[in-house]
Amino acid sequence: MIKVCKFGGTSMADKKSIEQVVKVIRSDEDRRFVVVSAPGKRFSGDDKITDLLYQSFNERFDDRQPSFDKIKERYISIVKELALDIDIEKYLYEAEQGIESSRTSDYAASRGEYLCALIFANILGWQFIDAADIIKFNSKGQFDSETTNDLVSARLKDANNAVIGGFYGSMPDGAIKTFSRGGSDITGSIIARGAKADIYENWTDVNGFMTADPRIIKNPIPIDVLSYDELRELSYMGASVLHPDSIFPLRYSNIPINVRNTFEPENKGTTIVNDVGAMGARLVTGIAGKAGYVSIFIKKSMMNNELGFARKVLSVLENNGVSLEHVPTGIDTMSVIIDGNELKGDKEHKLVEEIMASTGPDRVEVSKNLALIAIVGQGMAEKIGTAAKVFNALCKHEVNIRMIDQGSSEMNIIIGVAESDLKKSIVALYEEFFN
Ligand code: ADP
Ligand code: ASP
Ligand code: MG
Repeated sequence: MIKVCKFGGTSMADKKSIEQVVKVIRSDEDRRFVVVSAPGKRFSGDDKITDLLYQSFNERFDDRQPSFDKIKERYISIVKELALDIDIEKYLYEAEQGIESSRTSDYAASRGEYLCALIFANILGWQFIDAADIIKFNSKGQFDSETTNDLVSARLKDANNAVIGGFYGSMPDGAIKTFSRGGSDITGSIIARGAKADIYENWTDVNGFMTADPRIIKNPIPIDVLSYDELRELSYMGASVLHPDSIFPLRYSNIPINVRNTFEPENKGTTIVNDVGAMGARLVTGIAGKAGYVSIFIKKSMMNNELGFARKVLSVLENNGVSLEHVPTGIDTMSVIIDGNELKGDKEHKLVEEIMASTGPDRVEVSKNLALIAIVGQGMAEKIGTAAKVFNALCKHEVNIRMIDQGSSEMNIIIGVAESDLKKSIVALYEEFFN
């Protein structure tokens, strides 16, 4: 049996947690390939190495580089406390030089996992594989899954064990490219596929995937089994325990993901599979929510009779490189819901101007501070009354629903509420569906 294990930032944060990771790995010899994240927070308010690396990229031409100083301190203390025989100062120096001469922040960010994997390979006495050699992106920066899979399979075929840094790979010119934040989860999936693993264990700091965010709901009910599709819906909408794109490499070969707690290894965690069988009848599997959305509302009388109206609006977004989340429509109204991160600088102003010019509306209104909440469950399809329960719960707690959208798969209901109502709404929905 082959198990690929990915350990997140909290599992790699300090000597104590790293020793716990070693214990987990050594307790099962099937755990042969390990993907590690960069050291995360040791306590609330602490720095994540990846955040410090992005900051040190911004400080690279300054006289003082306080962020890189903190990074050095963290790695040196890990190596010292674990009494490792590795020239970490040399590797830190190389990283520092590389950050000063690199043109993108991706190189800087990737050094967190690179250094962590070097250290961890040294601890286990296993071979270190630089992810840049096996995980490939094309010249546009898009992940090249097939080239990667060929390289990973070839490299792991005769390897007994290996440690690989998560989060990054390289482009054809050798430049380092990272996945989006939280992307070590994707690396774990890629390695699991390439190693033809029987299972992909994703080790973190909670007992698996919960029915709601444990930072909002105290001790939420854990989910035993989840489908790939449900996982994607929940994690895209804020259940950050696993990256939403981490299912893609696994779909081909149907490899299950097991989310486990490094600090409570006896807990069986959550298993995520393609087909959940009878469990698929559950009405609601989980609830997740995220703040920071913006809605652009467009009103024009007789909009319904105007051929190509929606196309004109969507073209404006496309021409400005803005992707959209939802498009709720009425007879004379249409809204586009956009992640606020897409509207940096004067983008918002530009979009409104261009929408006005190309559609000649009666009115365009931008509203910010919108939060979206997804109520997800495969069993929702063709069952009556789920939306009624959602409305009822929110009405009881006096939450105004600003938008509603049901995915065409009938696997989710998305509602929009004011950001200030996000927590209250999740509590209300959790009580309705799980208490
Ligand atoms: P790692 O560093 O191991 O990758 P992350 O911080 O990325 O860990 O993900 C784990 C965190 O996700 C948990 O500590 C928890 O606070 C948060 N989280 C958000 N939603 C959920 C959920 N539905 N179930 C479990 N954890 C969740
Ligand atoms: N270290 C990276 C981040 O903080 C990747 C990861 O942890 O998955 O986003
Ligand atoms: Mg993570």
